[in-house]
Amino acid sequence: MSDQDTIFGKIIRREISADIVYEDELVLAFRDIAPQAPVHIILIPKKPIPKLADATPEDHALMGHLLLKVKQIAQEAGLDNGFRVVINNGPDGGQTVFHLHIHIMGGRQMQWPPG
Ligand code: 5GP
Repeated sequence: MSDQDTIFGKIIRREISADIVYEDELVLAFRDIAPQAPVHIILIPKKPIPKLADATPEDHALMGHLLLKVKQIAQEAGLDNGFRVVINNGPDGGQTVFHLHIHIMGGRQMQWPPG
């Protein structure tokens, strides 16, 4: 599936609008359109990797960059009391948009296990 086919590709290219909270040359973060918590931010690489299982050793630095940006974005969103980080991978993982993304959720008590 090419980047052109995903809604997140359209957000990167500004073909559809999103409430963007962070951007640099490698990643983009924006608020989820259907938030599952008071704070629900989606963080994506600009590179169109369909899902986590498609990442390669070439993506090593990008993956590290993403996780460090999770920390920064959560901090900037005021999630000082904790937050949940989720990557849905493939159909059984509940993934619906096939452009790798990290959910950053907080502002309420999370439950375990997730559904
Ligand atoms: P997944 O289920 O693939 O892990 O997560 C996809 C997420 O993208 C969902 O939480 C969904 O609400 C969000 N989403 C889908 N379409 C859009 C959109 O057009 N704009 C924004 N901001 N979020 C979207």
